[in-house]
Amino acid sequence: MSTPFYGSDYEALEQFDPEIAGILVDEVDRIRSGLQLIASENLSSPAVITALGSTLTNKYAEGYPGRRYYGGCSVVDRAESLAIERAKELFGADHANVQPHSGASANQAVYGAFMQPGDTILGMALPMGGHLTHGTKVSFSGKWFNAVHYGVDKQTEDIDYAEVERLAKEHKPKVILAGGSAIPRLIDFEFFRKLADEIGAIFWVDAAHFIGLVAGKAIPSPVPYADVVTFTTHKVLRGPRSGALVCKEEHAAKLDKAVFPMMQGGPQMHTIAAKAVNFKECASPEYAQYAKDVIANAQQLATSLGEKGIRPTTGGTDTHLSLHDLQGVGVTGAGAEARADAAGIVLNKNAIPFDPQKPNVASGIRVGTPSVTTQGMGVEQMKTIAELIHTAVTQGDGDPDSAISKQVRAGVDELCKQFPAYPRPA
Ligand SMILES: *Cc1c(COP(=O)(O)O)cnc(C)c1O
Repeated sequence: MSTPFYGSDYEALEQFDPEIAGILVDEVDRIRSGLQLIASENLSSPAVITALGSTLTNKYAEGYPGRRYYGGCSVVDRAESLAIERAKELFGADHANVQPHSGASANQAVYGAFMQPGDTILGMALPMGGHLTHGTKVSFSGKWFNAVHYGVDKQTEDIDYAEVERLAKEHKPKVILAGGSAIPRLIDFEFFRKLADEIGAIFWVDAAHFIGLVAGKAIPSPVPYADVVTFTTHKVLRGPRSGALVCKEEHAAKLDKAVFPMMQGGPQMHTIAAKAVNFKECASPEYAQYAKDVIANAQQLATSLGEKGIRPTTGGTDTHLSLHDLQGVGVTGAGAEARADAAGIVLNKNAIPFDPQKPNVASGIRVGTPSVTTQGMGVEQMKTIAELIHTAVTQGDGDPDSAISKQVRAGVDELCKQFPAYPRPA
């Protein structure tokens, strides 16, 4: 097949650099031969990957469409303008900035736009479901800003809204942040908006994890409530590995300046083109159905694991992920991760609320359904996957060659054969 542009040319790469070419093939094989249950991962489309592997990577385009610091930008301007328009349309937002290189970069821009070093931010604690960039001590956000953290309620294991309110009134943060990496439940955006108004704070939603479900209109959107919404484009959304933000018109200039030149240099135009492709995909009825299926699958997986004694925190999920407490089956998160991995099931250990273990051991696992749903699996397959996980985690030994790992892997192979990732053309 001839390509109409100088873009992906696997054969030339294979000739020149067989080592890297081999790695690219091995990674596709790895994806094809296992179950990817990492909640923050997905399988982006060939269209997205084609845009990523294009000559748009060459172009310097510091600035924004129509006002660049370099010549020769009229073509890439069209890509960025399309990405912006599609993001605004998809999320019903006043303004979009599609230049952040990642979720963390988008978050940096929010700090840059609204806070001075030493100012206070109120966000969710990392071990309770938050994110590194929400003011942890190892991140710029915790080193340069005063972070106050809320957690979850001991009974419900969902956000402790009373604590949020108490801390907001006590510390008067400049910014109140909602969102995180291990929150299975919907977030009450209206509550946060009212609270932010009451104390005169900016309300920021980090929607990195769930923005795809918003794009597919499968869960309520934070956009009408928040001053700014940051997100990644590679999780449920299923675009390229990158970030973006949408905001109210009144904050547009401030946030644009914070993305460039405050935090970043030149934008990655090939990735921006890939984001435009992804936003177009997300506007389709197929994607809306996908987003609904992701949630139905996550709910089934959470229920089925729970029936086997691997308890879902909060009792289940409203989104694409669930968090499971392994204490009932006497396995640690790290142990479960290794045992599952040996059997071809990729998931991650995760702290559960009030976890007695250290973070690198943890008492829980986090599982998500974006990738397996992209492969076309449905609720029946989730029941099978729950059985496979249960067997691997409770009986496995972390040895890929053991009888039990092989037994589970046979079940994994069967699913992968029936629902292939990146299916080969017939
Ligand atoms: C994944 C994630 C990020 C960071 O995204 P990167 O692209 O890895 O920098 C930020 N916030 C939340 C809540 C996330 O889940």
